[in-house]
Amino acid sequence: MLCYNIYSGDTIALPMRFFMPRASAVSADFPQRGHDHSACGSHALLEAEAVCRSRQVKLTDLRRKVLETIWEDHAPMGAYDILAKLNAEGERNAPMAVYRALDFLIENGLVHRLSSLNAYIGCRHPGRSHSGQFLICSQCNIVAEITSEAVSKTVARAATSRGFKPSGEIVEVMGLCPHCRGN
Ligand SMILES: [Zn+2]
Ligand SMILES: [Zn+2]
Ligand SMILES: [Zn+2]
Repeated sequence: MLCYNIYSGDTIALPMRFFMPRASAVSADFPQRGHDHSACGSHALLEAEAVCRSRQVKLTDLRRKVLETIWEDHAPMGAYDILAKLNAEGERNAPMAVYRALDFLIENGLVHRLSSLNAYIGCRHPGRSHSGQFLICSQCNIVAEITSEAVSKTVARAATSRGFKPSGEIVEVMGLCPHCRGN
């Protein structure tokens, strides 16, 4: 897994224009404040069911609950926070069971792991083959998932030209979202 963690202020090889589309294009990727979030969660669950059906894998009760918990918010959630929420009502799920459920959700493209935060986020484009590129707001923790072929190609070229064979790509960019910038 090729993983670039790019923090604001760092010098990076990728041309910054890839990360700076027009402001209107960026804000479309960030969830609007005050939106009907229950619709996001139920939509994600429906998509997850469809993905699992087409892949002939089982969305077990625990896998579904983990996914539902992750979709409680657009901010990433750590494994132990997920476990605590699951067990808040008297259930006794073991950490390993939650990690296995997370592995399943990641393998099937329903969840991404953000290594810079050691946390998980629901995929907004499940079922489609894509690399994960994330804009992470360091103030409100909201994450926008973008899928830029230009970024993927640049990263792949940078890797292969150095004799490195990438098996995957996750780009994490820290900064301030349009809401926190006051836009
Ligand atoms: Zn939402
Ligand atoms: Zn995704
Ligand atoms: Zn923010």
